Amino acid sequence: MTMKKIFKWAGALLLLLGLFFGSGLADEIAPSPQGRAAAPGGQLTITLLDVGHGDAVLLQQGSKNAMIDVGDRFAWQTLQEHLKRRQVQRVEKVFITHHHSDHMGNILDFLPRYKVSRVFDNGGVNERLEKSVKLRQILDRGDYGYAKGGRLEAGRRVELGPGYYLEVFSPGSFLTASLSKKELKNINNTGLVMKLHYGDFTMLFTGDAEAPAEAALAQRLSPEELRCDVLKVAHHGSRNSSYYPFIAKVKPRYALISCGDFQKYHHPNQKTVGRLQHIGATVYNTREHGCLTVVTDGKNYQVRKER
Ligand SMILES: [Zn+2]
Repeated sequence: MTMKKIFKWAGALLLLLGLFFGSGLADEIAPSPQGRAAAPGGQLTITLLDVGHGDAVLLQQGSKNAMIDVGDRFAWQTLQEHLKRRQVQRVEKVFITHHHSDHMGNILDFLPRYKVSRVFDNGGVNERLEKSVKLRQILDRGDYGYAKGGRLEAGRRVELGPGYYLEVFSPGSFLTASLSKKELKNINNTGLVMKLHYGDFTMLFTGDAEAPAEAALAQRLSPEELRCDVLKVAHHGSRNSSYYPFIAKVKPRYALISCGDFQKYHHPNQKTVGRLQHIGATVYNTREHGCLTVVTDGKNYQVRKER
């Protein structure tokens, strides 16, 4: 092939990629491993919304919306703006990983505002947080479909659409067996850890799990079970999380961190980012890159950053 032909082909390829993935936001395209098939439900969009310190992840497939955590109180306006920009009027299912304010501070306003039908959590409560106590009361009386299996634990699976579900890895009795009393008292360690499946695409949501919980999961699950395309990094990229062999087994291509004010929280920790890069992951965080979006058809996927 002559150089001229090579340039012509490369130009055509770039144009095609540009058309397919839109302009401006396009970042890198992860090639699909052989044998993967697209999911029947079309496109799934997963966005780590930039809500400062905290977690708020939006899952959108067709007209169906779900959230994993809903951010802290100070970010209520920001969260509503993010959802408005994405034409979200209703969120059918909400998953609360654990009852810390930076994950569920907005929940009592969120439930009526977005006409939520189902709420899922780990059944825990944070006695020091009024909102948590209130949410516990609401859920324990069976509201928001909680009586029909809202309390999640390892082994459960929540269907979100065709070929689209969350597989619950934690909490479970295996934690009680491997963690100390002090480690179990830290509610970061007993939060929901869930693997999202969409066709062949997978993403792991770790909440704020710290090293002891990660170690227990790495021991309990096989590399095939833990392996994921994308990882929502645990605990805002803190120095207490993302240790080997857990991350080595997950082996994500992308590691996405939701974090805010560096002066206050020192997230993400540079050594933690280094460990994630060492296992081959491209690491982005919401403070530097704004909202982080994963778009997938269940076969191929693409990660976009806002800036
Ligand atoms: Zn947190």
